[in-house]
Amino acid sequence: MSSMYCFQCAREYIEEVAECSECGVGLVEEKPTPPDEVGGPEDPQVAYELYEWSFEARRMLEGLLTSEGIPHGWQGAVLIVLEADEDRVDALTEQAEIADGPILDDDVEKIGYDMEEWSAEAQSALVDALGLAGIAHMFSAEGELLVSEENEDQVDEIIDQVTERIAIDDSLGEATQVLEGLKLNDLLGEVRTLANKLVKNSGDAKATLAMVKKAELLADLKTPFGFDSRSWSRIRLRATEMSATLTDEDRDEETVTEAAAGLSEELQEVV
Ligand SMILES: [Zn+2]
Repeated sequence: MSSMYCFQCAREYIEEVAECSECGVGLVEEKPTPPDEVGGPEDPQVAYELYEWSFEARRMLEGLLTSEGIPHGWQGAVLIVLEADEDRVDALTEQAEIADGPILDDDVEKIGYDMEEWSAEAQSALVDALGLAGIAHMFSAEGELLVSEENEDQVDEIIDQVTERIAIDDSLGEATQVLEGLKLNDLLGEVRTLANKLVKNSGDAKATLAMVKKAELLADLKTPFGFDSRSWSRIRLRATEMSATLTDEDRDEETVTEAAAGLSEELQEVV
């Protein structure tokens, strides 16, 4: 089996891993060169401090350097290359920076978000969401997320959404089943119909029986193609609540109605 490496810290991972758990950056196939072995012992080196760059931009630059065959090594977020290659590396850093999305201007008023409690995975989900929303951002040397003050409300909302999704995924555990196409549409339609029946009559025994099975299946489905993972997580959460409510011997009418209404509402947008 082939290994993957973190280009920043040279940790070795099995193939299935996508990111370094220490550094947060995406992994590469080639074993990285230790920074002191870049060039011969007499060759002058230069360092690029890229602490403020996103993980994605550093990973992209790493890919560009490798494909151009430029000798290089990393010491954490600091890139080491030969002085002789400086011009070429300048051009590549520019390329990677532009591709990284909107650049946060030096002179705008910035606010910082402490990312200390955030896992590498959560940070990368947040960066993806910011990129999708076209919000310029960068990281300070201390690892704080910096955005323009003007974007504060939008960023607060995105952070809420990302944390909500992560919390749901953590509480539900990873889904194991896959369902796509017509079968998926059928299931979503049926669950919504059953939910509506239970809203009208929470004592509907037939609907209850059918719903328990279908809601359990729905709660265990991986995000289907074409669905946004956050809204899918919410559907899974509602389906979990639904089946838990129905299988609770002490359930009362009101909790059943509430759970069914919540599930129906969540499904309204997709069926
Ligand atoms: Zn690493």
